[in-house]
Amino acid sequence: MTGLVIVGHGTRSAAGVDQFAALVERVRRRGDIADVEGGFIELSRPPLTDAVGALVARGHRALVALPLVLTAAGHGKGDIPAAMGREQQRHPGLTYRYGRPLGPHPLLHTALEERIDAALADADRAGTFVALIGRGSTDPDANAEVAKVARLLWEGRGYAGVEPGFISLAQPSVPQVLDRLRRLGARRIVVAPYFLFAGVLPDRIVAQSAEFAAAHPDLDVRVAEVIGDCAALADLVLERHAEALGGDIRMNCDTCAYRVSMPGFADKVGRPQRPHDHPDDPVGHHHHHGHDHDHEHDGSVAVVGGGPGPDDLITVRAQALLDAADVVVVDRLAPQGLLAGLRPDVLVIDAAKVPRGPSMAQDAINAALVSHARAGRRVVRLKGGDPYVFGRGHEEVLACRAAGVPVTVVPGVSSALAAPALAGVPVTHRGVAHDVTVVSGHLPPGHPDSLVDWAALARARGTVVLLMAVDTIAKIAAVLIEHGRAPETPVLAVQDAGLPGQRSVSVRLDEIGAVAAREGIGPPAVFVLGPVAAFATTGPSA
Ligand code: SAH
Repeated sequence: MTGLVIVGHGTRSAAGVDQFAALVERVRRRGDIADVEGGFIELSRPPLTDAVGALVARGHRALVALPLVLTAAGHGKGDIPAAMGREQQRHPGLTYRYGRPLGPHPLLHTALEERIDAALADADRAGTFVALIGRGSTDPDANAEVAKVARLLWEGRGYAGVEPGFISLAQPSVPQVLDRLRRLGARRIVVAPYFLFAGVLPDRIVAQSAEFAAAHPDLDVRVAEVIGDCAALADLVLERHAEALGGDIRMNCDTCAYRVSMPGFADKVGRPQRPHDHPDDPVGHHHHHGHDHDHEHDGSVAVVGGGPGPDDLITVRAQALLDAADVVVVDRLAPQGLLAGLRPDVLVIDAAKVPRGPSMAQDAINAALVSHARAGRRVVRLKGGDPYVFGRGHEEVLACRAAGVPVTVVPGVSSALAAPALAGVPVTHRGVAHDVTVVSGHLPPGHPDSLVDWAALARARGTVVLLMAVDTIAKIAAVLIEHGRAPETPVLAVQDAGLPGQRSVSVRLDEIGAVAAREGIGPPAVFVLGPVAAFATTGPSA
């Protein structure tokens, strides 16, 4: 048995709450759906949790949740799914199918037309411009939808023109769009709020329209009612409910800023936004084109830290980007287990095997990132640990920028800090070590290209974490002792941290070279040097 929960955002307007409640009651009275509740995610009563609680109390374990929003913006894409997620935690076993936003839909356009007609009374459409005012969003896709509805409203209805505007967050504002219409020669304008119910923002549309009208007495400015509780809206709710039940949600996500990079919005791509439900999609959400489908403009690169090795030490943001990726260029040290979770059609490129041709390996990788992004693909450059800790991540970022490809960086859990932690060693501890230095051991002391001041490290008292030092550890230990570090300084070697084969060896600084060789410590391994390393065997209380 499936129950329907209609989810509103909530409003400070009592009239808006009443209209919402009236619509829920209207849908209930239709009798098409066995059990219907309505709730708000904020500001108004009843809260969503009461609505879901009531349905669960009546035995429902599978719900349809319908976001009562006109456009697919943050509330519908993120806030309401997040609120439903909290309900699922509250009620273990609860499942739900998520409906898509109400608009755009011909029923809404007809309802808008009726509201505009009511405002026009008997005045003629041909002499009337319409300003369709949406809520406005930081999501360009949602704003574009209002523009689309404006156009659809214009088509075939005989108005002199319809222009979109926004009451918050986006432009043109109400006075701007009214001024635009005035300059186009409008004598009569109907301001039509693209809003479901009364609220603070629709009130603001009325106030700003009145202000503009007062300043332009030659203009006839009228404001239409919001869509409001009506039969058409109930019809639409029932249609969206049927779609969700049937698994037939045809939401257009081709220009969703959370999945494709758009100028000025590249930082939204892959943000931890609950993905909306796409039952027609093999992985249930958000994917409409394969990597061999070329796009000219929406490609992007994300340089992503995958954490030290285990699949679940990646960040939520990085995982979301992987879920949305068309191409993944992966390092050997990146968590390989994550590749198994990619959609089958994702192109996985092993960075170690990128064809090099005459250029250097890094140049070849940079070129691959740029060319896939330019072909319109969402590229994830998956690296081990953190991309900026000995990861050459910034070289790739600079290469993308130089090529004009949108690029973002997602920090990761670095092995420099994670490997000691996973072996029981804190890199700092009150009263024991107040500094930690992360050092590359790639070049041995004395190498002409070395930038490390080994003598200074020998004088320091705190923690030194050495990466890429398996081959150089004996030489490094000798140089540190030579410059004054105590030979008995504890050292911990951690190999394959976080992986099934993790092992660690605890010794003195003057023995680490010989012991590491004898024990066969091999890459990837970090060496933690300093008083904290003793915690590996003795624990902090000893
Ligand atoms: N960007 C990475 C480091 C790249 S350099 C990060 O932030 O972790 C590669 C070095 O990282 C290896 O030589 C080794 O010193 C260390 N390393 C990476 N993964 C490791 C692991 N699972 N266990 C131990 N050391 C690791």
